[in-house]
Amino acid sequence: MLAQETLTPRQAPVCQWCGRELPEQQGRGRKRKYCSASCKQRAYEQRHNLESTGIPADSVVLRPERVDELRDEVYELKCAAEDVRTAAAEGADAQELRHLCDELVAIANRIEKLR
Ligand SMILES: [Zn+2]
Repeated sequence: MLAQETLTPRQAPVCQWCGRELPEQQGRGRKRKYCSASCKQRAYEQRHNLESTGIPADSVVLRPERVDELRDEVYELKCAAEDVRTAAAEGADAQELRHLCDELVAIANRIEKLR
């Protein structure tokens, strides 16, 4: 019998600039919004530059080259996911599935960083 699992949305906080997962918060105090001083600085600069443009200050503005890169990476992720599905449908053993899942997760980790 299969255990029922429900997917819950990811709760881990992410850097408001680059999208990387933030390290576990230590103790009390204000919640961190950025993973590093440079991300905080770049967010500040963008807020400043977007003032009076009507573009929301927290917009994710990407260079066209980065958008192309992201599309390629998402395509790569999709192909890796399809490989897992195909392998499972063809009765691949647990070890092979594990290997394919590791690749899938590695790609996902690489593209998690937005900017
Ligand atoms: Zn960051």
